[in-house]
Amino acid sequence: MKVDPKLLLDVRKYGDFDVTGCFNCGSCTVKCNLSKDSPSFPRRSMRHVVMGLRDPLNSSLEPWLCYYCGDCSKTCPRQTEPGEAMMTLRRYLTSKYDWTGLASKFYRSKAWEIGAILVVGAFVVLLAMLFHGPIVTDRVELNTFAPVEQVHLFDMIMFSVLSFFIISNAFNMFMLTMYKDKSVKIPFSLYITQLKELIVHAVTQKKFKECSNDNRWIKHWLIVIGYATMFILVVVFLGWFQTDNIYPIYHPQRWLGYFATVVLVFFTADILYGRIVKRDQIHRFSHLSDWLFPILLLLTAVTGIAVHLFRYMSFPLPTYYTYVAHMAIAVPMLVVEVPFGKWSHLVYRPLAVYFQSVKDKAMQLKAGE
Ligand code: SF4
Ligand code: SF4
Repeated sequence: MKVDPKLLLDVRKYGDFDVTGCFNCGSCTVKCNLSKDSPSFPRRSMRHVVMGLRDPLNSSLEPWLCYYCGDCSKTCPRQTEPGEAMMTLRRYLTSKYDWTGLASKFYRSKAWEIGAILVVGAFVVLLAMLFHGPIVTDRVELNTFAPVEQVHLFDMIMFSVLSFFIISNAFNMFMLTMYKDKSVKIPFSLYITQLKELIVHAVTQKKFKECSNDNRWIKHWLIVIGYATMFILVVVFLGWFQTDNIYPIYHPQRWLGYFATVVLVFFTADILYGRIVKRDQIHRFSHLSDWLFPILLLLTAVTGIAVHLFRYMSFPLPTYYTYVAHMAIAVPMLVVEVPFGKWSHLVYRPLAVYFQSVKDKAMQLKAGE
């Protein structure tokens, strides 16, 4: 097996990774609720890095099977922070799956990540300046200023491009972790029979629940549901959602929007507060990407609320300007974070659980032969 002496230095560019003091005592494995029957989880991937084994690391699913509760880090007698090491490995692996090289640039360089957000935001403002409709000032006509058909077309183009990137990166993950792994022969039928694992874990995120005793699972799940609700409203049902009609409070257009907004504001603020005061073990280390996604999500929700309030108070110009600000935050959040940043974990995690279940079944079949 080829040894790459630069691997440790390479991984360290993606965050904190100081496991050279690990003396392999196994306390992290004992403490981890997710280690299950694996006697080397979460240590194996860390050892791969220390030993310079790049190929086994790149084909490993284990960093995705850690849900970062931080229990192992609290237990580690050498303060080597195995939980944060796994987080760093997830960033590293995200950049290995991404064929464009942008994820690697964004994770390793603050200038690249912040610069990309600013450039995309400025591009949105430029588009709004060039293509906005007539500005009606005696009443609010948001759909005249930003015709919903045009915004919807822009949404659909962006959605298609982002889907292309995330699907092609997920395919690269499959190639690295499954196709190139010849340790066990996998019958194609297993990919079909185990599909339920993908669906269950994508919808419920239930491994968060197994991972820790606190209420992280419900918070994380509600953020995902709030985000998904807002995403469906603005990408699929924009014609129904962005309207100049004022609906009664019980109308689904209002309470679905309120639900998603309240959830996003409350829980992203909670995440940011946790990081600011370093509330839990998992907040001790914060990479730029850990800040940017919740900040952008919070700002998107807050500017969305402002547009809503200005519209209801009949302030035309503040409504239009805030709407442009809202788009100039929401679009870079999607363009930068979905395929290349922290959002992509929502795809890679359930995929990893699915791939691992396929491998486990294949092993069981082999053992039964
Ligand atoms: S608890 Fe710490 S020192 Fe022990 S094996 Fe895990 S990372 Fe290494
Ligand atoms: S952070 Fe939690 S889930 Fe991840 S390896 Fe440590 S104990 Fe296990």
